[in-house]
Amino acid sequence: MTKIRTRFAPSPTGYLHLGHAASAQAAFGFARKYGGVCLLRIEDIDKTRCKPEFERAIYEDLDWLGFDWPLPARRQSNHFKDYQGVLEILQEKNLIYRCFKTRKEILEDIARAPHGHSNVYFGPDTPLSKGAEQVLVQSKQPYAWRLSFKSCQKYLGQRYDDLSFINNSERVKINPALLGDIILARKDVGTSYHIACCHDDALQGITDIVRGTDLLETTHIHRLLQEIMDWPVPKYHHHALLMDSEGKRFAKRDNAATLRALRQTGALPENILAQIKSIG
Ligand code: GLU
Repeated sequence: MTKIRTRFAPSPTGYLHLGHAASAQAAFGFARKYGGVCLLRIEDIDKTRCKPEFERAIYEDLDWLGFDWPLPARRQSNHFKDYQGVLEILQEKNLIYRCFKTRKEILEDIARAPHGHSNVYFGPDTPLSKGAEQVLVQSKQPYAWRLSFKSCQKYLGQRYDDLSFINNSERVKINPALLGDIILARKDVGTSYHIACCHDDALQGITDIVRGTDLLETTHIHRLLQEIMDWPVPKYHHHALLMDSEGKRFAKRDNAATLRALRQTGALPENILAQIKSIG
């Protein structure tokens, strides 16, 4: 039997809070329960929002809670070339295109579409001609790389209709309404959470992904990427989110609930973990 491998993958854009502790407990606890291993991955591709002090705090806080992981932890900012490679493959397959539209123009397109779903964008009515695209590139207009939903459908054929994944032991069929032409890279960043996360899950041999239900919709997108890139498909275990006493999600700006603040006021890790269990 394959050994269970999961991961906890925080972004160092703030101090970890009780919600993260619950997620970490779910992921590290899952690995422990099945005699597997839980990796730590630092998802720091957003150079403007990620800070070294938050990354240092991640190691400290997790260590304080009693979790450990194989060293070194993968830091995504050291691997932009890998993600660039994925983008190039998608470009060669003609599955991505440059989108020069502003946010406002995209929202107008969505509003005009006959079966629009919230903010999911299903591409322009008429794709930009190669000539017009070249003019925009040469004049240094900003753009994003978007996955072409229609091209993916065509590329995968029957396989597209059969796409599904396992979530909490149940098979879930992909819901096309959740997909659309998602952004896979911005001109200045060169990758996105979707590419970096799915690439690394495949590279690191992750068998089981344990994360919050806030990322369940994202899994539909990830499943599509896995099929296109021929990456293995892990099992998913989306857990309920931990809520505060007012029934709201913990947020990074919620200073009092950060593990660091709790530690400074004398909280003990065992009490935190017990508290999470009783709320979760
Ligand atoms: N880096 C993501 C976050 O902090 C988590 C990604 C994942 O678990 O897939 O929300």
